[in-house]
Amino acid sequence: MSAAAPTPLLEVERLDAFYGAIRALREVSLSIRRGEVVALLGANGAGKTSLMRAIVGVGPQVSGGLRLNGRELAGVTPEQRVRSGVALVPEGRHLFGSMSIEDNLLVGRVGARGRGARSRTAGLLRELKELFPVLRERSGRLAGSLSGGQQQQVAIARALMSEPELLLLDEPSLGLSPQVVDVVFETIATLRERGMTMLLVEQDVAEALAIADRCHVLASGRITRSGTPEEIGDHEQLVSAYFGAEES
Ligand code: ATP
Repeated sequence: MSAAAPTPLLEVERLDAFYGAIRALREVSLSIRRGEVVALLGANGAGKTSLMRAIVGVGPQVSGGLRLNGRELAGVTPEQRVRSGVALVPEGRHLFGSMSIEDNLLVGRVGARGRGARSRTAGLLRELKELFPVLRERSGRLAGSLSGGQQQQVAIARALMSEPELLLLDEPSLGLSPQVVDVVFETIATLRERGMTMLLVEQDVAEALAIADRCHVLASGRITRSGTPEEIGDHEQLVSAYFGAEES
């Protein structure tokens, strides 16, 4: 007797996304189960960021199904989505450079209310300082004075302050030196070991394939290929996706 499959944490079903007349996503369907790391690969302009932004509700106009924990997200505000358990680490990090590291982290906590919220915030800060040494050593420093890699760690920590079930990471290695990229991916690996469910957009294909359970290739707004890293890793489609070609 087989038990019914649990509801995926995220379900995207035939999602279309538009910026006015520009169609950024075409009938995109994918799902992410709890504990999975799913990578989204594709050329510039393929629609990766649009999908991330559609999930958190700050992006384009969408139609189609988008469910978190089985709950339809249409009509749910971005703030409510964060409270429902999804957080985005945006491309380019978007920290407040003239605020301290700790104040940047507290921004990730603005939606937290109710009994015990203050002590939970203090507990989270303690936990994150263990995970990210940069927070421990420099929490009073202005975020704008940090290196790119350190800023990326702060951006990830800020997202974790909302205690997400699903973490969306948009090009975390962008603009970082190879050594620093390794550090960022070590952090992502630690989160994976702790059971964090993640959707990862990444231009560093090798790093993405090394950490993902499953991958989707996006080209011109459509998913053109899906599978495990082994299944799609050496396929020429992966290369053509990076030159923006669509699968025929
Ligand atoms: P990149 O790696 O360059 O960030 P991407 O795969 O994340 O690319 P998107 O940024 O999602 O791609 O862009 C998908 C399409 O939507 C592109 O054609 C882009 O020009 C368009 N687009 C993105 N943002 C906007 C916007 N704010 N207004 C109009 N068009 C947009």
